[in-house]
Amino acid sequence: MSAYKVADASGLIKLDAMENPYNWPDGLIQSWLETLRTCELNRYPDPEAKQLTQTIREQNNIPSAYDVLLGNGSDEIIQILLMALPTSASVLSAQPSFVMYQQISQSMGLNFINVPLLPDTFELDLPTMLVAIAENQPAIIFLAYPNNPTGNLFSTDAIKQIIAAANGLVVIDEAYAPFANSSFMDELTNYGNLLVMRTVSKLGLAGLRLGYLVGAPAIIEQLNKIRLPYNINILTQATAYFALTHHALFDEQTQKICAERTHVYEQLCKLDGITAYPSAANFILFRTPNNKASDIFTAIKQQGVLIKNMSPQGGLLADCLRVTIGKPEENQAFLMALKGSLTYLG
Ligand code: PMP
Repeated sequence: MSAYKVADASGLIKLDAMENPYNWPDGLIQSWLETLRTCELNRYPDPEAKQLTQTIREQNNIPSAYDVLLGNGSDEIIQILLMALPTSASVLSAQPSFVMYQQISQSMGLNFINVPLLPDTFELDLPTMLVAIAENQPAIIFLAYPNNPTGNLFSTDAIKQIIAAANGLVVIDEAYAPFANSSFMDELTNYGNLLVMRTVSKLGLAGLRLGYLVGAPAIIEQLNKIRLPYNINILTQATAYFALTHHALFDEQTQKICAERTHVYEQLCKLDGITAYPSAANFILFRTPNNKASDIFTAIKQQGVLIKNMSPQGGLLADCLRVTIGKPEENQAFLMALKGSLTYLG
């Protein structure tokens, strides 16, 4: 295994990590700082983060019959889920997808199975998934919806067939929900083995580290046995509560990001040699000419823009780069750098 590497973005336009590029207006920062004054840092935080959980429930229309588990980022929730399994268990996901499903499974010695997505569409290979489920009886299946790094929403029909076929849990990871008009939250009532996971990271609060998992109380109860008692610190609780009660700002920022996503996608489609894939998230995956991805990535970086080179992962991601949608001027700088590098590298 190798550690999850985070590139140094000092001095660069940062379009590599699916962050929201916008900060808060000064007035809002002042009121936020006022609320932080009331935090008693000498005390442990509320172990159940009741006030924050209530707000999350209201804003996501979470039915009262379901419980919510908070995590220090959804990364921690993935870890908690996997820690709950016996070491003989199997975990299944599609490939390419979010690397932490595999990384954490393998670090725990679990049997991790990847079923490749279909080329070109990045859709789930349903027949192969169903065979893998029947053969391995995975204790957990992770499906990112929309998927990272491909950006697409898998067919809802295929996902429903997978949930129905699974004897174990199915986690629908909706990290990019703010940018997609589709969710499985309303399906919780139809499937007892379904869990829906979200995060505030992509919405604009990546620095807080807060994710949440929604599911049947009997499942959340088991996961709470593993969760560390104070995993959501007092500053995160207070700040997330404050931010979520000012959600109009995030709604506005999300709209701007979605409008820019359309613009960047259209511009990418116009470039010779580039294939851009449609995205329901705040990033776009695109394919570059054969064996040019790493050179193009480096040339773009030399022009001051950091994106993500997916090509070293190989498989369906060979020749692919991923760009996060930033502010209009940042996206423009990226497009100029990409055009420049295509001309220069032929
Ligand atoms: N799920 C998916 C699909 C992601 O892409 C990411 C972050 N890249 C995460 C979960 C983790 O998010 P966080 O830990 O910031 O909540």
